[in-house]
Amino acid sequence: MSMGQQELNSWIEKYPLLKTIIDLKPVVWQNPKRQKINAMKLPIGLQDMEQAEKLWQRFAPYLSTEFPDTAATGGIVESPLREIPSMKKRLSEYVDGAIAGRLFLKCDNELPIAGSIKARGGVYEVLHHAEKLASDAGLLEAGKSYEQFSSDRFKQFFSQYAIGVGSTGNLGLSIGIISAKLGFQVSVYMSADAKQWKKDLLREKGARVVEFEGDFSEAISEGRRETLAKRDAYFVDDEKSRHLFLGYSVAAFRLKKQLEDRGIQVDAEHPLFVYLPCGVGGAPGGIAFGLKQVFGDAVHCFFVEPTHSPAVLIGLMTGEKNKVSVQDFGIDNVTEGDGLAVGRPSSFASGISEQTVSGIYTVEDRELFKLLALLADSETIFVEPSATAGLLGPLKIQATDYAETNQLQMAAASHIVWSTGGALVPKEEMEGFYQRGKTYLGGAE
Ligand SMILES: *Cc1c(COP(=O)(O)O)cnc(C)c1O
Repeated sequence: MSMGQQELNSWIEKYPLLKTIIDLKPVVWQNPKRQKINAMKLPIGLQDMEQAEKLWQRFAPYLSTEFPDTAATGGIVESPLREIPSMKKRLSEYVDGAIAGRLFLKCDNELPIAGSIKARGGVYEVLHHAEKLASDAGLLEAGKSYEQFSSDRFKQFFSQYAIGVGSTGNLGLSIGIISAKLGFQVSVYMSADAKQWKKDLLREKGARVVEFEGDFSEAISEGRRETLAKRDAYFVDDEKSRHLFLGYSVAAFRLKKQLEDRGIQVDAEHPLFVYLPCGVGGAPGGIAFGLKQVFGDAVHCFFVEPTHSPAVLIGLMTGEKNKVSVQDFGIDNVTEGDGLAVGRPSSFASGISEQTVSGIYTVEDRELFKLLALLADSETIFVEPSATAGLLGPLKIQATDYAETNQLQMAAASHIVWSTGGALVPKEEMEGFYQRGKTYLGGAE
């Protein structure tokens, strides 16, 4: 429900950029509350990330047994970092401006298990829960490999427990697939915009799918209510989860290694720019938090939201965070960016991102499809529409005074566009996305 005109006007008076946001025009916002790493006051720290990484390590033998696509990385769920010089060239023609620095794609669209960035947070939270249950029940034999989680004894044990999650699609896939594999009874509460193929795939993997008329926030509320009414049930809460956040954060350790392996420096003279598509703010928030812990003030993180779903932008700009939704400002929260159709930000993530993030920009849906086609043509990399949102980042930020204000040498910069999903998208669906992008690029409606 939208607020009254008078209240709206007073918000706009305070934050004039809100007018443009409400008019659904793309904006670039710089975060005035960003802190230097030493001045940040955060509820979690590097030790929490290190513990999270250790949990991933303990489960690596289990994951490599149960998910053969993780075998190549020894059971570690990680994606490649690829330099995309042809796309860099194509982008500068498209936007008519050269990008200073090198351009990379962090290919979470290739992540094993769930085919999206949700394989980080979602899988982590379920593994964390499973380990706790098994440990509390005295099932874990000291010194024995976590391959024991594959045994019938463990599956039997987990089958007494329920897990629930509310999702627009990708988080549901991640939680559903890992939970069903471990033996849990898992229910995924899906919003009206969730794709049919995602529901079909989940059912095939053994999850219960509950379809829901409303949007993402309503799916979460209903899922939370129904799940928590059951005995022995656990709800993965995308609106406030610390575990999801930590699961995402460890990406920073892996990225550091990938950059070192390529001899790419990150320091005050060689700034690292990272562009992250943002829904509720958990995935980009967790990764930005992790990157700040690892690279300090040398990394500059920007979030990207659809013009129709600028939930984190409005939450951070007004300082109201999860207390406001885009609907309060008369914005419809309708976008084809899967995972980005979120009207209200995560409370846990917002308090942290408020200090870590350099800024947020918004993009129109049409742009996502065009970028998808440009990336496919130039690099033969196919990602889902939401995963392309970061590709405009370097040029968007270059057009502001950010580099000047922060005294950054952009020629020595590395830009990482976080590609957040795509591997599980059916071929026909992907072909449709690509064709739409080509049509839009051709200038037709
Ligand atoms: C979920 C998702 C995001 C954003 O993650 P949040 O935690 O919701 O901010 C971005 N891209 C894709 C493809 C996603 O599924």
